[in-house]
Amino acid sequence: MFDLNSLNPQQRAAVSHTEGPLLLLAGAGSGKTRVITCRIVYLLQQRGVSPRQLLAVTFTNKAAREMRERVEEMVGGKAVRGMVIATFHSLCVRILKANIERLGYKKNFSIYAASDQQQLVRRLLRDEIADATGKDAEQILWQISAAKNRLVTPGEFQSSSRDPVSCMTALIYPRYQKELKAYNAVDFDDLLVLTVKLLEKNPDLLEHYQQLFRYQMVDEYQDTNPVQYRLLKLLAGGHGNLCVVGDDDQSIYGFRGADVETILNFERDFPGTRLIKLEQNYRSTGNILAAANAVIKNNRKRKEKALWTADGAGNLIDYLICADDEDEACRVIERIHAERGRHQLEYADFAILYRTNSQSRSFEEQLRYENIPYVLIGGQQFFERKEVKDIIAYLKVLLNPFDEVNLLRILNYPKRNIGAGSADKLIRYSAEAEEPLWTILQQSERVADLKPRTHEAIAQFVALLECYRQRFQQPREMLETLREMLEELKLAEEIYRQENDPQKARRRIENQAEVLNAMASYLERDPEPSLAGFLDKVSLLDDDGPKQNDKEKKLAQNAVTLMSLHSSKGLEFPVVFLVGMEEGVLPHKKSIYETFDIDEERRLCYVGITRAQRQLVLLGAQQRRKYGQLEQREPSRFLVEIPQELLTRSAGDKPPVGTPAEQEQSASNFFSGISQLFGD
Ligand code: ATP
Ligand code: MG
Repeated sequence: MFDLNSLNPQQRAAVSHTEGPLLLLAGAGSGKTRVITCRIVYLLQQRGVSPRQLLAVTFTNKAAREMRERVEEMVGGKAVRGMVIATFHSLCVRILKANIERLGYKKNFSIYAASDQQQLVRRLLRDEIADATGKDAEQILWQISAAKNRLVTPGEFQSSSRDPVSCMTALIYPRYQKELKAYNAVDFDDLLVLTVKLLEKNPDLLEHYQQLFRYQMVDEYQDTNPVQYRLLKLLAGGHGNLCVVGDDDQSIYGFRGADVETILNFERDFPGTRLIKLEQNYRSTGNILAAANAVIKNNRKRKEKALWTADGAGNLIDYLICADDEDEACRVIERIHAERGRHQLEYADFAILYRTNSQSRSFEEQLRYENIPYVLIGGQQFFERKEVKDIIAYLKVLLNPFDEVNLLRILNYPKRNIGAGSADKLIRYSAEAEEPLWTILQQSERVADLKPRTHEAIAQFVALLECYRQRFQQPREMLETLREMLEELKLAEEIYRQENDPQKARRRIENQAEVLNAMASYLERDPEPSLAGFLDKVSLLDDDGPKQNDKEKKLAQNAVTLMSLHSSKGLEFPVVFLVGMEEGVLPHKKSIYETFDIDEERRLCYVGITRAQRQLVLLGAQQRRKYGQLEQREPSRFLVEIPQELLTRSAGDKPPVGTPAEQEQSASNFFSGISQLFGD
């Protein structure tokens, strides 16, 4: 039985406050996530709530998985059947799967990944600007996404006359939306927008879900954006049993429309809210906490919090000045070796955190050179690899033949005599006839100016898809069906034809084979498997975890973690290296020169510092390579905000470059750089 005494008094109050709105506002490492987990267990065991009535929303799939596992450990697997622990996106997929027909879509809708969206927008753009680039498409998609996150419809979108991208967005957004619907496809933001629309338009459904999810909990609430917030308000309407936990100091998704006001306004929007604060930190040493508190107190708009720990002060925070980015990587590796020897740590106890993904390269190189296993979170994901996307495109079309972006992707892949010219004719015909491309392919004799061998190739292609569509309807045989389809398509031969480097070709073929493993493990996990279910899983993978093939996974089990500060939310590691502590890196140069939002950068820095349990190591380079050129760097302003007595500048540091005298000089220049910059 769950013991409330394992919690402190405030945590206990939060766990046992089960009716009515609850805002748990607390700093990093104070047990917010733990409170949600315990609250689920408490509701199940002590309030006799059915697992079906519980809804917990987490920020990533990994967090959802971990929370489920913890609850299962505490109450047993059977007791949690039917409980929904999900991200906003997977919750919305679940609601849409059951009801999307009410919005005029079909149940087998496709979910478009970034690359599918790109394809579509580029095509729409080409009708307007012949030489439109991928970057143009990206900027437009960014604006469309921002609009959707604020629930701005294509009709409401206002361009600003001084911004050419927004003018183009005003033109493209309605067409993009129309095409998506014609393809029976939705993008990621649509998942939320459409769910909100569905619930707003259908009071019966709204009531159903409000009744169903009697007890709702949201972790990392500070990163909720307006559309997510609208959804929460809808779902919790009536009973108001919504418990949100968050930390305004960790709001780091402002750039995606998350609004720190949302957390600050919760009490106003949900009258009768009980506010509970947690102030004891259970994660980090006193020194790490003192540094975090000192940095974050420089932000203007925040709720005052005073984190404390019953733990001792612990080690000082290391600060290493490095000559350049290569030196920075070497120093990190040296420390990993040293700490492992000294404290018997595993590789998995170390994390290297950086502001932007491109910073990972030098660390990856060094780790590889030293044969140290590592996992890279983010970066190019398994399902983003071209050869993998090709197979997924087949599966998407088998499920939803109106998915035109993917249909075009596979139309002549592998090569089957339907060249670009023929594809153009088919697309034009379908546009003029206002009928889906798939229908035209099924009746290609209607398109007069195609060669007989093209007609034949199209007929074979249609027959192939029809045949596999039938076969994939037998879920128990899906694995075998996929295997046979890959053989029949002879994709491996196509890869050898296209790829000059045989080793790369082999790797790409292995990756394709890995899709089979992904399907096999999906089949093991889902009691009611289907092609749609498999594709949902693949589409909803977020960048919270490494998507690797099996070989990579085995290597990664005891490995150093490399990830961006954004991905590190909610996690903890005994030793954290926070690298690139320089002006222009952290804070990012965009925030200094464009958005002027240094506060969000400071929150990122705070998130980074508070991931560390025992030891925090800060690193900064004096020079860094940019487009092959060495650039001088200034130390980050956040370093200066840390009380200097908490920092070591370890005397035993390896000289960066030059003679010891030159180095002494360059180190002292670096520090006078800090003083000049901040006048202290
Ligand atoms: P973040 O803001 O980084 O998401 P958090 O507030 O969600 O942090 P948790 O991850 O829930 O914090 O907890 C941090 C650590 O403290 C975990 O290792 C957790 O097990 C531990 N912890 C939390 N509460 C207690 C407690 N009452 N007693 C002992 N350990 C605790
Ligand atoms: Mg947490």
